[in-house]
Amino acid sequence: MSKKILVLAGDGIGPEIVAEAVKVLKALQAEGAIDVTLEEALVGGAAYDAYGDPLPEETLTAAKASDAVLLGAVGGPKWEPLPISKRPEKGLLGLRSGLGLFANLRPAVLYPQLIAASTLKPEIVSGLDLLIVRELTGDIYFGQPRGVETLPSGERRGLNTMVYTESEIERICRVAFDIAMQRGKKVCSVDKANVLECTELWREVATKTAADYPGLQLSHMYVDNAAMQLVRAPKQFDVIVTGNLFGDILSDCAAMLTGSIGMLPSASLNAQGQGMYEPIHGSAPDIAGRGIANPLATILSVALMLRHSLGAPEVAERIETAVSKVLDQGLRTADILSEGMRRVGTAE
Ligand code: ATP
Ligand code: MG
Repeated sequence: MSKKILVLAGDGIGPEIVAEAVKVLKALQAEGAIDVTLEEALVGGAAYDAYGDPLPEETLTAAKASDAVLLGAVGGPKWEPLPISKRPEKGLLGLRSGLGLFANLRPAVLYPQLIAASTLKPEIVSGLDLLIVRELTGDIYFGQPRGVETLPSGERRGLNTMVYTESEIERICRVAFDIAMQRGKKVCSVDKANVLECTELWREVATKTAADYPGLQLSHMYVDNAAMQLVRAPKQFDVIVTGNLFGDILSDCAAMLTGSIGMLPSASLNAQGQGMYEPIHGSAPDIAGRGIANPLATILSVALMLRHSLGAPEVAERIETAVSKVLDQGLRTADILSEGMRRVGTAE
């Protein structure tokens, strides 16, 4: 049966990079490797300009009815004066909560052809291939109570609360463990169980859940040590599972190990396996409309989509191999250009 993909180009370089990813989908469709139906809708600043709303009802409805969403990026200086509720980023948050996307997958892969782009020594990062699984709907970002309050003394106090239920911890661990069983069967759960009770529970539930996965090797690490180890010796990790706050920080750290923001895809999944797929970079307003943005993060997001929402892992691998071949040929967009390589634009 044909799978439905909702294409949300968004703002800035979004339309340019998504157009290239759509070409990949159409090429696979034309040769019969996949059976998909593409639909387009507006989100972010583009939707605000057209409807006064960064997430129009019809976009959310179309997203819910699709098997997967391909998103470019949202936001830009044009919409910064708007109140927070109207900002493009609100469209993204609305999609996340509307679709119940609780699992964020952030692979950090260093392509050997791009070793010169990393800020770290080759022996530390060559062969790097890790996946961070970040919980996306809980933690200190959503816990109550929260806010800034005035004390009887007149002094103000700000507070946020870290909250996780056992079932929330278990379901994100299962996502990570299921994926790990297809990879190196090795998961590191990151917490701060020596100080935070909430993450003490996290460690307990992760350990209990792992018992259902024979052969899975689960280790635990405090987040401060994990940050240090990521920079010191990142190849010790295969899959990392962690909460929303620690995952936010560690995934950006891991991304930088590869040195090329234009190469990194991401996936956000819900309990039904529906997913939203997008590059980790933003709308890059500084280079929008010039045809120089790197489309590979978005094309690699299509690979994640095929693997995690469309049940076509072998086609996903073909895309990843194709990306690698393009790099082998010495073709580079400006962001990953190095000496002796040929500079190409987005479409080429
Ligand atoms: P956001 O707030 O959405 O995370 P940001 O301002 O942090 O956005 P990006 O939009 O990701 O950052 O851009 C950061 C820098 O990386 C910019 O200089 C941008 O031009 C560059 N960049 C981002 N994506 C790409 C890409 N696909 N190709 C080339 N350069 C890129
Ligand atoms: Mg940013």
